[in-house]
Amino acid sequence: MTPKVLVLGSSFAGLTAALALKRDLEGAADVTVISPGDQFVFNPSLIWLPFGKRTARDITFPVAPTLERHDIAFVHAAATRIDTASQTVEADGSYDYDYLVIATGYRNDFTVVPGLGPGGPAHTITSLRDAIDTAGAWTQLVNDPGPLVVVATQGASCFGAAYEFLFNASYQVRKARLRRHVPITFVTAEPFLGHFGIGGLPHGEAMLGLFLKKEGIRAIVNTSISAVKDDGVVLADGTVVPSHLTMAIPPFVGQEVVRESGLSDARGYVPVRPTYQSQDLDNVYAVGIAAAVSAPWHTPNPLGVPKTGFPSETMAHVAATNIASQIRGRAPSEEKPFADIPAVCVMDAGNNGVIILADKMLPPRQHGVLIPGPQAHLMKLGFEKYFLWKMENGHVGLP
Ligand SMILES: Cc1cc2nc3c(=O)[nH]c(=O)nc-3n(C[C@H](O)[C@H](O)[C@H](O)COP(=O)(O)OP(=O)(O)OC[C@H]3O[C@@H](n4cnc5c(N)ncnc54)[C@H](O)[C@@H]3O)c2cc1C
Repeated sequence: MTPKVLVLGSSFAGLTAALALKRDLEGAADVTVISPGDQFVFNPSLIWLPFGKRTARDITFPVAPTLERHDIAFVHAAATRIDTASQTVEADGSYDYDYLVIATGYRNDFTVVPGLGPGGPAHTITSLRDAIDTAGAWTQLVNDPGPLVVVATQGASCFGAAYEFLFNASYQVRKARLRRHVPITFVTAEPFLGHFGIGGLPHGEAMLGLFLKKEGIRAIVNTSISAVKDDGVVLADGTVVPSHLTMAIPPFVGQEVVRESGLSDARGYVPVRPTYQSQDLDNVYAVGIAAAVSAPWHTPNPLGVPKTGFPSETMAHVAATNIASQIRGRAPSEEKPFADIPAVCVMDAGNNGVIILADKMLPPRQHGVLIPGPQAHLMKLGFEKYFLWKMENGHVGLP
């Protein structure tokens, strides 16, 4: 019997795992992707949607044709139950597996403070729907200018997106000659500017400080918030920062179906070994944001660790290699602990930015460098086009 591999999720990690497995094993495995998301969304470009620099169409493609071309079955449904005893997943029917890859990513945790979430006073950009909603709020701000507050809440992990929105917003109001009517404040749970949830990099704090100073942005660092209201953000000490528009990056948690499976920690992430096998089961893998990662530090306000695109793809490749080994009757020997995966990222700032490179995602590191300048913006523009082309055509073997 041909072994069956089920992949849950069709984003950075799930699509990469499914395509890499099929590339390696061809007809030696039946691969099926189950996902409620029939569109791949290039999340790094969500920062541009509110300003009209991108539409949903520009940064998405349908996953079904890509999967079909590579002989991978696609089930357009959410997994609703994972039963590891019977090795089945419930979605729009019941699917059995020999190997399971959990790549179900994140959802927003809007419960952390009142005022977050759809219909509330705070907007966000952490999903396509949220970013489209924020575009409406941005148009209102431009038509009726007033203070803008950008928040990275306690427990957040996606700090890069907060900085990118912040600097892009500043660039846009400057371009619209509205800057003096839109005072901008940045509120972050990070213990210092440029921590990014990865412990910071050499000179990062000073560099981010200079960027903020140049843009005339006020920063409130190392701070929790207690609520977002219609007219402002309430900090933990009761101070109210007035706001016409608040964009807040909330914490992320794993999917409910993963939490209910008994495989996850309290936040819904699956503890994994360096092979990306789950702690308890040799044939169940978790990759991308779905995999649990712990930070080697304690901060006054809780912070998550950003599981960005490059490590998500790396985890998916490691899992695919190991499943292929198991199917060939060998032990899974490929290992790449999250902390040791290189950090490769671009922080866009409108017409400028910072390239972030480090030999490891988490300290202790040997090398880490931040390269500021307009080439960072150009790099992000080029990377967006390249990455969408690469994924849509299934070229996951390319860097
Ligand atoms: C605003 C923003 C900006 C970002 N910018 C950058 C950047 O500049 N650089 C960078 O490297 N990274 C960036 N990231 C991070 C990047 O988006 C993540 O690393 C990446 O999305 C992780 O991929 P994933 O496949 O693990 O999870 P996700 O992208 O969360 O995908 C999860 C998948 O699982 C599916 N799913 C959900 N529930 C179920 C279910 N019940 N059953 C089956 N499938 C399910 C979803 O439909 C989706 O296909 C950014 C993220 C955001 C939000």
